[in-house]
Amino acid sequence: MLTRKIKLWDINAHITCRLCSGYLIDATTVTECLHTFCRSCLVKYLEENNTCPTCRIVIHQSHPLQYIGHDRTMQDIVYKLVPGLQEAEMRKQREFYHKLGMEVPGDIKGEACSAKQHLDPRNGETKADDSSNKETAEEKQEEDNDYHRSDEQVSICLECNSSKLRGLKRKWIRCSAQATVLHLKKFIAKKLNLSSFNELDILCNEEILGKDHTLKFVVVTRWRFKKAPLLLHYRPKMDLL
Ligand SMILES: [Zn+2]
Ligand SMILES: [Zn+2]
Repeated sequence: MLTRKIKLWDINAHITCRLCSGYLIDATTVTECLHTFCRSCLVKYLEENNTCPTCRIVIHQSHPLQYIGHDRTMQDIVYKLVPGLQEAEMRKQREFYHKLGMEVPGDIKGEACSAKQHLDPRNGETKADDSSNKETAEEKQEEDNDYHRSDEQVSICLECNSSKLRGLKRKWIRCSAQATVLHLKKFIAKKLNLSSFNELDILCNEEILGKDHTLKFVVVTRWRFKKAPLLLHYRPKMDLL
């Protein structure tokens, strides 16, 4: 199996907050331009401003706070990529509540990381259609009930750009932003009756996408046309051409 190692250094710019220069905490994205900041940094900034700190577009003349949103997928990515960050943040928050003598909210009591279920590069291989491994019955049931329909969704157009492969009958799909490139490869391989998803590359802006990237990550880092559906191309792997 081919794995591509990515240095944390190379993606730091995508997972840090421009306002505090730290890793994103409580990642919050401006809906208009998709720039992401820590929630507390952005809210504080928007008390005095109505523009995006990165690109300066006017978010909203009078109510910019209504046009920002919690970005769970982004936060999951950050926690997944930066070892120890989530534990440290949870500890800080618990200490904060303890100091004030307040009850600790349920979601920061435990160390549970929702990212684990979706974005684990080490088991991405088996994750897409094989639910028989490590998951507990409970987690599995939760997934069975919901199929990630309540996740943030992305619209994608899957276009074939090789004469060696067929196009898809239905090339427009909508799926969870937490799905990975590997999921798409498996989906296409199945539709085209290929013997393995490994025969495919998926590209965005002519760059091959790593199989462990989530679609959210692809949209945020590779896709400039924020409101348009994500246009992806697939073709046989180069060495198979
Ligand atoms: Zn910040
Ligand atoms: Zn912006």
